[in-house]
Amino acid sequence: MLYSNLSVNDLGHLAIAGIDACELAETFGTPLYVLDEDRMRGKCRTYVEAMRNYLPVGSMPLFASKTLCFKGIYPVVQSEGMGADVVSAGEIATALAAGFPADLLYFHGSNKTDAEIAYGVAKGVGHFVVDNVDELEALSREAQSRGITQKVLLRVTVGLDPHTLAAINTGKVDSQFGVPIETGQALQFVRQALATPGVEVEGYHSHIGSQIFEATSFCDQVDRLLAFACDVRDELGFVAGAFNLGGGFAVPYVEGDAQVDIAANIKAISEHLKKGCEEANYPMPRILTEPGRSIVADSGVTLYSAGRIKTIEGYRSYVMVDGGMTDNPRYALYKSAYTVLNASRANAPEDFACTIAGRCCESGDRIAEDICIAKPERGDVIAVLTTGAYNYAMSSNYNRVLRPALVMISGGKARLAVRRQTVEDLLDLEL
Ligand SMILES: *Cc1c(COP(=O)(O)O)cnc(C)c1O
Repeated sequence: MLYSNLSVNDLGHLAIAGIDACELAETFGTPLYVLDEDRMRGKCRTYVEAMRNYLPVGSMPLFASKTLCFKGIYPVVQSEGMGADVVSAGEIATALAAGFPADLLYFHGSNKTDAEIAYGVAKGVGHFVVDNVDELEALSREAQSRGITQKVLLRVTVGLDPHTLAAINTGKVDSQFGVPIETGQALQFVRQALATPGVEVEGYHSHIGSQIFEATSFCDQVDRLLAFACDVRDELGFVAGAFNLGGGFAVPYVEGDAQVDIAANIKAISEHLKKGCEEANYPMPRILTEPGRSIVADSGVTLYSAGRIKTIEGYRSYVMVDGGMTDNPRYALYKSAYTVLNASRANAPEDFACTIAGRCCESGDRIAEDICIAKPERGDVIAVLTTGAYNYAMSSNYNRVLRPALVMISGGKARLAVRRQTVEDLLDLEL
C-alpha cells in the first residue's frame, strides 16, 4: 500500500486507519471524503518539531488553509502548535468560527478587496502578507482609520523556476503574485512600506510553488531572499525579523513517486540559511513555512460507488463513479495522477484496465486514465488516495452535483465533520 495507514482487512476490504472503507461508505454514503486526523497530526508534529529544533524562537509552520478549509480542521492545527494562512474573508471567518486565534492568522491574496482588508483588520488578523503597493496603501488607510498598527510581511518573487507544473509555479518573475526582486520593484516596495503609516514591516514572504521534491529549490529560494534582505539593509538600513518561505513540499501520489523527508529538508534548509546569515553577518530571522499539501494530502481518501461499467470493444473500459470533477477537479485541471483501488476487492489482482470517469456531462470528467484496478461490479467501493488537499476545497456544484460529506477518523473512530450537501442547501440561495 502507498501509505502506512492503509491495509487490507479479513474481508478483503481496504481499511483506512483500521476502519473498513466499505463500512464507511455504507454508514456515511458516497461519495465520501475521509480524513485520517491522526496521520495529519503526525505531519503537523514533524513540521513543528523540526522547526523548533533547527530554527530560532518564533519560527513555526502555518497551515495553508486553501488546501482544506472547514471548521473541524482548525482545532487540529491549533492543538498541534501551528498558525494558519488564509486567503479570503471566507477562510478567515471559517477559522474564527472554529475558535482559532486571529493573531495566528497570516492573510494572503494578490487582490484583496477593500472589504476584505477592513474585515481582516477588524477581526485582528495577526499579519497581512501584503502582495503589492495598492494593497499597502489600502491597508494603511484602513489601519489608520482604526488607529492601529498592522504587522505585515511583504510578498516578493525571487525569480525561481522550480520543477513543477506551470499552474502551481508562483516563484517566477512573471507571476501575478508578489513584487519581483529582479526588476528592482521589490526594493521600492520595501522603501515605501517602511515609510507607510499604520503598518509595521516584519519581513518578507515568498512562495515558489507546489509539489516540489528537491530541497535545493528551497535553498536557492533562501539564498535569493537573503541576498535581497542584505541589499535592503545596505540601501535602507532595515533588517528583517522574519522570512516566510511559503509551502511547496511534494507528496507521493502514485507508486514510484519520491517520498520527501520533511524533517531532513527543514534541517538542510535551516543549515543553509544559517551559514548564509553568518557569511553575510545578517541576524538569523525567525522562519515561517506554509505547508498545505504535505500536511493533509496523503491523509485523505475519497470513496465512491462504482456505477456503470462500460467496455467499448477494441478501445477501452470505463468505470463510472458517483462523483468526479465536482469533488476532485485536479485531473481535469492538471492531469494529476492518482492511485485508485477497488476497496471492496483489495486482495484481488489489479488486472482490469480502465479509465475512471465521473458523472458530469463533460468528456474531461475523469479521475484517472488507463489504470488497472481489481475488476469492479456495480456497487463496489472505489477508493482514490491522496485526496486530502485541493479536493474538498476545490469542489463545485457543477451539474448541480451535491458536495460530499467529510468524515474524520481519530483513535479508531469515524465522525462526521461536514455533512453532505442537500438540494435544499443549493436552492436556499435562490430567490
Ligand atoms: C498554495 C500555497 C501554499 C501551500 O502550498 P502547498 O504546496 O500545498 O504546501 C502556501 N503558501 C502560499 C502563499 C500558497 O499560495
